[in-house]
Amino acid sequence: MKQQKPPVVLCFSGLDPTGGAGIQADIEAIAKHGCHAAPIITANTVQDTTNVISFKPVDAALILKQARTVLKDMPVSAIKIGMLGSGETAEAIYTLFRQYSDIPVILDPVLAAGGGTSLAQKNLIDAINTLIIPRTYILTPNVPEALLLTNSKAQAESAAQLLNKMGAKYVLLTGTHTKNPDVIHKLYFKSKNQKSFTYKRLQNEYHGSGCTLAASLAALIAQKMDPVNACQNALDFTYKALINANNLGNGQLIPNRNI
Ligand code: PLP
Repeated sequence: MKQQKPPVVLCFSGLDPTGGAGIQADIEAIAKHGCHAAPIITANTVQDTTNVISFKPVDAALILKQARTVLKDMPVSAIKIGMLGSGETAEAIYTLFRQYSDIPVILDPVLAAGGGTSLAQKNLIDAINTLIIPRTYILTPNVPEALLLTNSKAQAESAAQLLNKMGAKYVLLTGTHTKNPDVIHKLYFKSKNQKSFTYKRLQNEYHGSGCTLAASLAALIAQKMDPVNACQNALDFTYKALINANNLGNGQLIPNRNI
């Protein structure tokens, strides 16, 4: 019997040499969900499992050339965006959107490393808000990211609803950074609708959990799963990867996506 071709997910992500976050997380999660990752590196980072020490964005013109070349060659079923590295790269990706307006975009707004280092300056945050979010199908901010993107000290809930109004069709606000005993992730859509996903809080910290979640979502959306089920499945997969994470460095644990 002829095997079905795996859907292609085009990824824009940073390279994390620990292999926990960034493009490696994308490739592993996307493969595990039965899709093929087409990886484009947006930035090279120097980091360990505790924090990002520095990073160098890749030239935006090169990124654009790589993406155009792949898009001409392969049928891309979803685009996953993680760390962008520079405002110029956000602008380059925006120019692709005009030509490829039907491909769903899953955006993990990577603004800071788990250890606290900022990965996005103001001009990049502005570019994400004005150029990328209006084209985003599912946005996956944590609470600090939702507040930073909307420049609000307001409640996370209002920030998530504002992100819906700014153009993200679905906003999956992840709940790790709240004080709740359980971790409650909330999906906001069509302004008032919400769905909650509750998980037992884990005691460790992880390097690449957000990337695992967004990449899984992109793979499931590439397979035409509806967004609510895709969120449930991607969150379940990420939780399993965290429960089975490995303590490979001196800092956060590395999610085990090979489960
Ligand atoms: N992408 C890269 C390249 C990173 O270096 C980081 C964090 O350091 C992230 C994404 C976000 O990681 P997480 O999934 O842990 O939020």
